[in-house]
Amino acid sequence: MTAPLTDYSRLCIHTMTTKPWSLRESVDGYTKAGVPGVTVWRQHLDPGGPAEAAKILQGSGLRVVSLCRGGFFPAETATGRQANIEDNMRAIDEAAMIGAPLVVLVCGAIPKFSLEESRKQITEGIAAVLPHAEAAGVRLAIEPLHPMYADDRSAVNTLEQANDMAATLASPWVGVTVDVYHLWWDPHLEREIRRAGKNIFSFHVCDWRTPTRDLLNDRGLMGEGCIKIRQIRGWVEATGYEGPIEVEIFSSEFWSGDQTELVDRIKGAYLTHC
Ligand code: ZN
Repeated sequence: MTAPLTDYSRLCIHTMTTKPWSLRESVDGYTKAGVPGVTVWRQHLDPGGPAEAAKILQGSGLRVVSLCRGGFFPAETATGRQANIEDNMRAIDEAAMIGAPLVVLVCGAIPKFSLEESRKQITEGIAAVLPHAEAAGVRLAIEPLHPMYADDRSAVNTLEQANDMAATLASPWVGVTVDVYHLWWDPHLEREIRRAGKNIFSFHVCDWRTPTRDLLNDRGLMGEGCIKIRQIRGWVEATGYEGPIEVEIFSSEFWSGDQTELVDRIKGAYLTHC
């Protein structure tokens, strides 16, 4: 049995979890609550842009864990694919500017394509930005998404597919993200976590609500749903992973409430259920 967490040293919160807050408000809120890590979503780089965000973050003492998100590589035209590659290069530059060592990739999919074609374009897209990532010193993590998003958010839906893609790309700069929300149902999850090994670049947590009232914005706080988060954390840590545990919750319900209170609830749920 995996022991419960006893302190907050590995806790990281995604700015999307406290979406109504600006970056500065998130940084202040997390710092006051003793949360040591932050993953920044690109929309929270606005309105000041990455240079201003870098100043806010550097002065805060928070550990910047990653930038979310790059990806969305497939497109119907070559021009579209090139635009996506350029956008990913910008994301890599932004990550480097704010001191994030990692860009998480939500890889994309085009509904009219076969999943194989989308995956082919994803692999080609990552290969195209890899030299840029390496030069910037920013790693890339392929995040498999739950298959309910296979039509237009990601054609990478299992950790096995993400591992296969990382193996094809064969670069120390490409790994995977394990997000319990997307992967908890997979009968091969333990095996694929073991296979990913040192390629696990980040670990995301929240919970799966029953019923789920919205496919995108009804994620639960840890302990509110059916995911055996601690068991999955145990599998991840058996690979040697000792990195941050990132709370990423998209929830219209939580976003409509008090964000300071939400951060407090996250801290409680983190020790009790992660
Ligand atoms: Zn995630």
